[in-house]
Amino acid sequence: MSGAEWFERFVVWQMEEGKWIVLSLDSTRGKPKQYCVTTNGYRLLCNCPHWLKKGVEDPNFVCKHIVAVMQVLGTQTEVVKRTKTAKLEDRIKKLEERIEALEVDVSYAINPANYS
Ligand SMILES: [Zn+2]
Repeated sequence: MSGAEWFERFVVWQMEEGKWIVLSLDSTRGKPKQYCVTTNGYRLLCNCPHWLKKGVEDPNFVCKHIVAVMQVLGTQTEVVKRTKTAKLEDRIKKLEERIEALEVDVSYAINPANYS
């Protein structure tokens, strides 16, 4: 480890049970990219290119979006749970209000390039 710490901010929205939208706020390559993290009951899955390349075959692989969701689940369980039953229109409004509350910082142990 070089000692350098890398942080990237994400917004995590729980759209429904077992489904989250993850938006990067610190994209340096154009506009923020949005990915969908879901669960199949025993692990989290992502639809980003990196996860599709590695995560499909490696059950232990987690991309940065999954890390962000795990972080939210670990620290913001109450907030995330409350979005679950909201109706769609309400949900969007409430999610907008909660963007700040759901922001998470993900620190990378080694290098962000390994997670993107
Ligand atoms: Zn991902």
